[in-house]
Amino acid sequence: PAADATIRWQLLDSVDSTNIELMRSVGAVAESGIKVCLAEQQSAGKGRRGRQWASPYAQNIYLSIALPFSEGAQKLEGLSLLVGLVLVETLEGGGFSGCTLKWPNDVLLDGRKLAGILVEIAGDLTSECVAIVGIGVNVLMERPEDAIEQPWTSLLLSRQAGVLDRNLLVARFIQRLLDSLEVFRQEGFSPFVPAWQRRHGWQGLQVVVEAGTTRQQGRALGVDARGALRLETDSGEVSLHGGEVSLRLE
Ligand code: ATP
Repeated sequence: PAADATIRWQLLDSVDSTNIELMRSVGAVAESGIKVCLAEQQSAGKGRRGRQWASPYAQNIYLSIALPFSEGAQKLEGLSLLVGLVLVETLEGGGFSGCTLKWPNDVLLDGRKLAGILVEIAGDLTSECVAIVGIGVNVLMERPEDAIEQPWTSLLLSRQAGVLDRNLLVARFIQRLLDSLEVFRQEGFSPFVPAWQRRHGWQGLQVVVEAGTTRQQGRALGVDARGALRLETDSGEVSLHGGEVSLRLE
């Protein structure tokens, strides 16, 4: 059971990026199992598509978890959505309400960006690979940061009476993630679809999805068992996969 899994911890004062740090030791992870990296600050925190993640000292959670997947990368479909869901459930358990998910994997609170998730995959994509799950959660941050170009918030700014102890939140998140991964490894994302959709901020709403030069407009129906966004368009239902797409309300 997940509770017995051996976890190696790396606790750092400062790092370029917790994901990059784990990338450096991917070989060891493939051999000996789960490794967690936590830092008080990141000098080069990463978002998706080369974007920056603002990571001021001792204010937020900067956490990456390296997970060996012997089944290969095709088994990882939906993993980043699962991580978002587990994070929202952890925050709800910590007394925060009003967290929603924006496909594929943003976590919003009061409609503002609270957390980012970056899943990277290293190794042989057809067999032995390591998934590096990175999360940044704004906990105590109150001041604007240069790297943030969109509405954001933190748990402290929400003024809700929830848990602000970063260590406790991290411990609960990891416990919950490892438990959920037991199911995910067997059955994939499909058992988590209803719970994800309950927290979907744009469920049933008209949205515009932009991927490079193409643009799709439609009603967000939810997600499928592979984590794709289901969209009802004028020409029928389409499924959009994550990656190079960005989503906004119409
Ligand atoms: P989007 O959220 O715009 O759809 P994305 O999902 O690709 O894009 P991420 O990679 O999750 O974005 O995050 C990077 C973006 O998040 C940055 O461009 C910046 O605007 C914003 N950002 C950076 N640091 C923080 C932070 N600490 N809290 C909230 N937002 C941040």
